[in-house]
Amino acid sequence: MKFIFTLLFISQLLYSNVIDLVKRENNDSNTTLLVIGGIHGNEPGGYFAPAILISHYKILSKNVWIIPNLNKASIMAYKRGVNGDMNRKFATIRKNDKDKEIVQEIKKTILNPKVSLILNLHDGHGFYRRNYDSTVFNPNAWGQTCVIDQCKLETTKEFGELDKIASRVAKHVNSKLLHKKHQFDVRNTKTKFDDEAMQLSLTYFAVTHNKPAFAIETSKNLSSVSQKVYYQLLAIEEFMNIMGIKYKRDFNLTEKEIKQILKEYGKVTINDNITFNLNGIKSYLSYIPLKSKGNEFKFSHPLGAVKKKKGVYTLYIGNKKIAWLKPQYFQLAKDCPESFKFEIDGKEILVPKTAQIDTKKSFKVIPVDGLRVNIIGYYAKGHKNESGLKVTYNKLNKKFSIDKKEKTFRIEFYKDNKFCSMSTVHFK
Ligand SMILES: [Zn+2]
Repeated sequence: MKFIFTLLFISQLLYSNVIDLVKRENNDSNTTLLVIGGIHGNEPGGYFAPAILISHYKILSKNVWIIPNLNKASIMAYKRGVNGDMNRKFATIRKNDKDKEIVQEIKKTILNPKVSLILNLHDGHGFYRRNYDSTVFNPNAWGQTCVIDQCKLETTKEFGELDKIASRVAKHVNSKLLHKKHQFDVRNTKTKFDDEAMQLSLTYFAVTHNKPAFAIETSKNLSSVSQKVYYQLLAIEEFMNIMGIKYKRDFNLTEKEIKQILKEYGKVTINDNITFNLNGIKSYLSYIPLKSKGNEFKFSHPLGAVKKKKGVYTLYIGNKKIAWLKPQYFQLAKDCPESFKFEIDGKEILVPKTAQIDTKKSFKVIPVDGLRVNIIGYYAKGHKNESGLKVTYNKLNKKFSIDKKEKTFRIEFYKDNKFCSMSTVHFK
């Protein structure tokens, strides 16, 4: 990518906030598009597309609010709904339903007076056709449609012509098909009269509260996530055009470039004293200095999440498991330095405490009074503190590298056997 507009960190505590709402706002207008992704955990087009909308688009006029991962637990589990179908809980919900807090919160967001139009993103089965052709291509399929509950919202002045808007979106998508059979259409469920199940859905809740709402359904039968994301983004862009929302993206909207973007996992910062680059990270890392509880993980990727099970922390990007961290519990030291001096290929530099440092041949940590340095994968006889020693690549045990290419190593700082911070050194 040529440049990245926003370096954003979504704070993701282990037992995290109810919904992650990212607001992209300008003060020229109150018109706001609300994009809701990930209501169903096994529909990756529906959550990777809004994640890209957050990290690779700049909104230049009006407002876009984005929730990339409404049903986080189900996304990590890659299931439609670990607590049942969340999209059937918008008419009534049981008191003890585990999705209750999320559903209440998203309802409140939908009803926010600022919100002008709502999109609920899905990957549906098959390819919708008006006439029956096969079990995959037929009128009961959801894939490749813009779904509306009814033709019009009589009382809503702006964007009330649901049918016309959906037709324009379908037309736009159809002008950029990757394959003819991917053709897009409008599917009107005529919810009020014909569809009891859909009366329980998010879009119907919105529509019955006079909020224009649409579902975008790409097909589960598309051959790759990049294709699903491609169609989701095409549809979202046309909604932005219809609403007069100006935007800029930092890539070409092609399947190939989306495929590249989907491989970017970004970074995670833990307790503000450890940073790992998640691209190319080994799938299993052990002896990670964490607190026994209350660890805070911040991901640069909007779909970054963590789950703790049997003492191991699993890091996710959407439904993808990226790494398992086996902790070694430490207390955190107080009053640690915010930066350190390193000698890199013979030249002294000052770096922040969680720096990711590049070197060609060697590095040396400049000693700090009262601090012990532990270089993971390095052993020097008679040295408990490994600062002040020149370390070359061949002195390091590659088994302890943190990346699959075995080029990156951990440098840990301790004070009175309490953990301060970790930097990493990468041999180019
Ligand atoms: Zn769905």
